[in-house]
Amino acid sequence: MEITGECFCGEVKYQLEGRLRDARSCHCSRCRKAFSAQASAYALVDASAFSWLLGQDLLTSYVGQQGFGLQFCSQCGSTLVGVFKGVVHGVTLGCINGDPDIEIGKHIYVGSKAKWEVIPEGVVQFDEGAPESVE
Ligand SMILES: [Zn+2]
Ligand SMILES: [Zn+2]
Repeated sequence: MEITGECFCGEVKYQLEGRLRDARSCHCSRCRKAFSAQASAYALVDASAFSWLLGQDLLTSYVGQQGFGLQFCSQCGSTLVGVFKGVVHGVTLGCINGDPDIEIGKHIYVGSKAKWEVIPEGVVQFDEGAPESVE
């Protein structure tokens, strides 16, 4: 399937062929800051299946620990993708257009969630990383 995504102002767009993998939401304090939200909402992609359609020159990067970083629209501030050592690693679910046919499969680092966040009942959650998680 073909999935497209774009930022809030619409000046940066991407597409990817195939499926998203391993959609997760991380509630740690770092992800709260990085995603400006109660948690991340993020899924993995194959870099070879990903391409920018528009506005790549508007992207700004912030690279944090261990070579993992985020790229966002310098015009509106939407965070679009995660990168590892300069290569696209995953996408933020919030910037995807339409239905990408995947659900968040696990909530991780729920043990360090914000005090103000209420986690819905019935979600798969872990106090720290999921056993097989690379997060
Ligand atoms: Zn934008
Ligand atoms: Zn996190």
